[in-house]
Amino acid sequence: MESGSNGLIERWDAHAFRPVAPPESSPMMTVPIRADARADRRGRPRPARLYLPALSIVAAMLVLIGIGWVNRWGGASFTSSMSDLRVVVIGPMTVAILAAILVVERLRPAQRRPFFARGYRQDALYTVLNATLVLPLVVALSLSFSDAAQRYLPWIVVPRLEFFPRWAAIALIFVAMDGCNWLAHLANHRIRVLWRFHELHHSQEDMSVLTVFRTHPLIHVSYLIALVPGIVLLANGAVPTALLVAYAGFVAFEHSNTNLGFGPLERIFVSPNYHRIHHKLDGPQDVNLGFALTIWDQLFHRAVFPTEETIRTDTGLPGRPLLVEQATGRPRHLSVLLTQLWGPFRPLGAEGALDDHLLPGRIPVAVDDGERC
Ligand SMILES: [Zn+2]
Ligand SMILES: [Zn+2]
Repeated sequence: MESGSNGLIERWDAHAFRPVAPPESSPMMTVPIRADARADRRGRPRPARLYLPALSIVAAMLVLIGIGWVNRWGGASFTSSMSDLRVVVIGPMTVAILAAILVVERLRPAQRRPFFARGYRQDALYTVLNATLVLPLVVALSLSFSDAAQRYLPWIVVPRLEFFPRWAAIALIFVAMDGCNWLAHLANHRIRVLWRFHELHHSQEDMSVLTVFRTHPLIHVSYLIALVPGIVLLANGAVPTALLVAYAGFVAFEHSNTNLGFGPLERIFVSPNYHRIHHKLDGPQDVNLGFALTIWDQLFHRAVFPTEETIRTDTGLPGRPLLVEQATGRPRHLSVLLTQLWGPFRPLGAEGALDDHLLPGRIPVAVDDGERC
């Protein structure tokens, strides 16, 4: 990166040693260097070394886990909850679903790529990370959040209603859970500190079914809100694990490199062709935020339905603000992984200053293809 005499900077891709071409749609690719308010002895502004707001997510995680630990996870068994969630994330059903989707991807790809494309290998690393280290973290967060909600806000739990059938409660929880995921996803795109954790998911240029695992471990803090419907209707029904497996498998499938739309059913369910528009390289990525249902996007005018042009669209982030595996001369998956995980904490200014323009919703890009409703 070089600093210009007018105090503006030009972005360089340090790994490929080439200037990053600005996306055509973005009128401003030179941005002022941000500096810490403090100055050194000579009065020169000192650049910040850390993006401090990102620590608030770490603090939220630690507080939640601390509460759960002190309260012994609300009496729930950590180990049995772990094995329950393990069934969802790496259970035989899920593995079978993932394997089936991998085959469908090869048969009907949206973009042709080698079987061992760099992005695929990187996302395989994220899959291993999720199955090992992230799983206990998610269990701890979920148990702590549920316990804290019931302990400190007991009035949110609706008592057993005799006239309310169990299946209706489960259906309601399922739909409301999807709505909460939509809301948290929107917040991920609108609130800078959350976007810094979510951009990793959007940085993938070789999307595949495994991209569903390409998420920062701390982003799960923002999705805890999706547990609320289940807590509210706790006494009236609980979503069966099988349904959660189906939900997780469905969300994974829509990340696959499969050329598949659902026709009229897309008015209800998210298809791979629909979700790919959410990852569109030069698109406004705060559209098509739905997890399983498209109804939330339609309700809030954020739905863009696929067309022939959007099916094979490139994905990723313009200007590569976060290091991606495709940018390095040689594949260095592990060091790229560590850099990506550190990404939310890197300071604003220099590379991070581009975030101002990349924060979805602020990208001055018009939806010129696809039908927006
Ligand atoms: Zn997103
Ligand atoms: Zn996605």
